[in-house]
Amino acid sequence: MGDKKRVLVKFSGEALAGESGFGIDNSIVKFIADEIKSLVRAGVEVGIVIGGGNIIRGVSAARDGIIKRTSGDHMGMLSTVINSIAMREALEHGGVDVRVQSAIKMEAICETFIVGRAIRHLQKGRVVIFAAGTGNPFFTTDTAATLRAIEIGSDMIIKATKVDGVYDKDPHKFEGATLLRELSYETAMADNIKVMDDTAIALAKDNALPIIVCNMFKAGNLLNIITNSADATYSIVK
Ligand code: UDP
Repeated sequence: MGDKKRVLVKFSGEALAGESGFGIDNSIVKFIADEIKSLVRAGVEVGIVIGGGNIIRGVSAARDGIIKRTSGDHMGMLSTVINSIAMREALEHGGVDVRVQSAIKMEAICETFIVGRAIRHLQKGRVVIFAAGTGNPFFTTDTAATLRAIEIGSDMIIKATKVDGVYDKDPHKFEGATLLRELSYETAMADNIKVMDDTAIALAKDNALPIIVCNMFKAGNLLNIITNSADATYSIVK
């Protein structure tokens, strides 16, 4: 690997839940922490954004009109803080230096997001987990991750998923779906593909931030991607 790389890894809250789809499975959190640790040990500067879908999504919370959408989104953002704390613990447990920075101030629990401070942490080899999304309702954690990636000058955003990359059609529904190795931002926005929500993809496009989509559950894959190994499996949007 040449220059020191800085990456932002985003994964959904659901990824943490495992089979049950709800809550946090510590063995999964530990697996992800070990993957992140291997990046840090290789000298990569790592930021992380975790979703909150394993606990609450604003849209679902507000579905029946009792909870306002803005309040539902606040609940969703707080869910990401819960997940971020779990990930911080697993990284610390594995001997990795790590800080959580929340977009919403909660000083008894974690730091508040300050871009310059985040960059200093990264330069010192600390992982920074960006919690509470953008701090605003009506956004997603994919958009938050893209925003933070751009703010910290990340070389790429890695959307770590349960599948190997972006397919031309849903691989769970269609036999013979093919993995698209490289696609444009426009294709990534297409209705049948939707790598991330339009806001996130537009932000990435405007700032020429490459989006990598890959499988997080293949051990070693994240490191293989960053080191350009022939074994890496992923799609790239650029
Ligand atoms: N959220 C928000 N603003 C943000 C990011 C997230 O209001 O900037 C809320 C929103 O309600 C969302 C929830 O947090 O549904 C959890 O995030 P997301 O759905 O992106 O999680 P994921 O699907 O990645 O687990």
